[in-house]
Amino acid sequence: MYILMKTLEELKLISQHYKRGKEWREVLMESLHKRILEEGIALSENVLKVDSFLNHQVDPELMYEMGTYFKKYFENHNVTKIFTIESSGIAPTVMTAMQMKLPMVTLKKQGSKILNGDVYQTTVYSYTKDMNYELTLSKKCINKDDNILIIDDFLANGEAALGAARLVEESGATVAGIGIVIEKSFQKGPQMLKDKGYDVYSLARIVKLSKGNIEIEK
Ligand code: 5GP
Repeated sequence: MYILMKTLEELKLISQHYKRGKEWREVLMESLHKRILEEGIALSENVLKVDSFLNHQVDPELMYEMGTYFKKYFENHNVTKIFTIESSGIAPTVMTAMQMKLPMVTLKKQGSKILNGDVYQTTVYSYTKDMNYELTLSKKCINKDDNILIIDDFLANGEAALGAARLVEESGATVAGIGIVIEKSFQKGPQMLKDKGYDVYSLARIVKLSKGNIEIEK
């Protein structure tokens, strides 16, 4: 069953690639676009709610398909581990890690008594909560030879992804790339991360949001 699903997803992706005549890097995920347009709720000009398939209720098949896309894009980047940020990044990341056969690490949003001492930590401003949190990584989960793929659910101003990249680089390891499920291209994060030299691949790119209206890059 797993093999069959894997083959079907890859075939679908190959046919999209063929139809569009585009590079893998440019292939956006049509099934995700459809779900965003049908189920997403634009709460304002800046915030999109996708609680029916990603941020609250989770659709495992859609998450699996996201994993197929991330794998296709990042498979030649020599990734050694995949990092995400708790909690909404976990579902797409575990599906990607499974398909790329790589370990996955969840960065914690606060210092843990269990991690106790031996940690890298950085302060990140939360876009949706309007507050700071301490992004935390145990030193046991990374070494300087690692090449880390960072995956998160949303990219807005880039604070979360940049915080994750800071932790990776503090350890002496490198960032292989940044995979994003939904990028809000009109906010400053995408350009800022690209300007810093990171390879950013987003499955869906929202170009405009207004109350009740969502515009996606095709
Ligand atoms: P950034 O750090 O790029 O400003 O924001 C990214 C983080 O904020 C993501 O991890 C995500 O949890 C949250 N976020 C940013 N924008 C949105 C949004 O429009 N909807 C939801 N549900 N979360 C968002």
